[in-house]
Amino acid sequence: MPSVLITGSNRGLGLEWSRQYAKASWRVFATCRHPEEADELRQLAETCRTVSLHRLDVTDADQISALANELEHEPIDVLLNNAGVYYEKYAPLEAPLDYQAWTHTFQVNTMAALRMAKTFIGNLALSEKRLVVAISSHMGSIAEIDHPGSYFYRSSKAALNAVMKGLSLELKPLNIGVLLLHPGWVRTRMGGPDAPLLPEESVRGMRKLIDEFTISNTARFFRYNGTEIPW
Ligand code: NDP
Repeated sequence: MPSVLITGSNRGLGLEWSRQYAKASWRVFATCRHPEEADELRQLAETCRTVSLHRLDVTDADQISALANELEHEPIDVLLNNAGVYYEKYAPLEAPLDYQAWTHTFQVNTMAALRMAKTFIGNLALSEKRLVVAISSHMGSIAEIDHPGSYFYRSSKAALNAVMKGLSLELKPLNIGVLLLHPGWVRTRMGGPDAPLLPEESVRGMRKLIDEFTISNTARFFRYNGTEIPW
């Protein structure tokens, strides 16, 4: 049975990843910051025995270590760095720059993905698929910047792309791949109610890319529908 470890799986795309992989009979290590409040995820774990729920704030090094200890010897086919934050929607440009929010954006969107990958390399190496996925954004593509704003988010995702491309060179000799995915504009709390895509379709598309992944595609950056995004 293939397995996936998902961050930020209590809502939005993370919840949908958990649902679809559970339905496909994968072993799902679903993580979130507050399992006691994650009603839909808890319900999924109660009805599907291949899903387990684990506490994880991706900015908390102690919680990451505790999870690594708990999952020691467990093969993880796909490490899915999904958790993300986007503050600027709530902070207009005229407002003073909130450096604390910018720092936190980097901690969640960029630094955590590398820390997770380094921590779980041993688990990936025990698996067949051996793949690190980073949910990036086309807003992290410097080539695609066509309007001002979203500086915290854009810089954090551009940095994520750079980090993951570098990491792919370190992991390739170990036959561990890295895949960067843009989910499209999706109707979640982050995407908002006007987003045209539903999580079901976005995740279905991204799962297909994961299924089709081979190491020759390592460090490529795709939209959910398979089109490639320039850096
Ligand atoms: P949501 O805002 O709906 O969900 C974000 C998830 O991240 C929540 O589960 C949240 O948990 C979790 N999270 C935030 N901070 C932390 C943390 N410190 N530790 C662990 N989990 C955390 O967003 P989406 O589902 O839309 O986004 C998922 C990913 O897709 C993100 O990386 C995002 O950048 C990316 N993306 C989304 C797009 C969209 O249109 N929706 C477009 C492009 C990219 P909690 O409930 O505890 O806050």
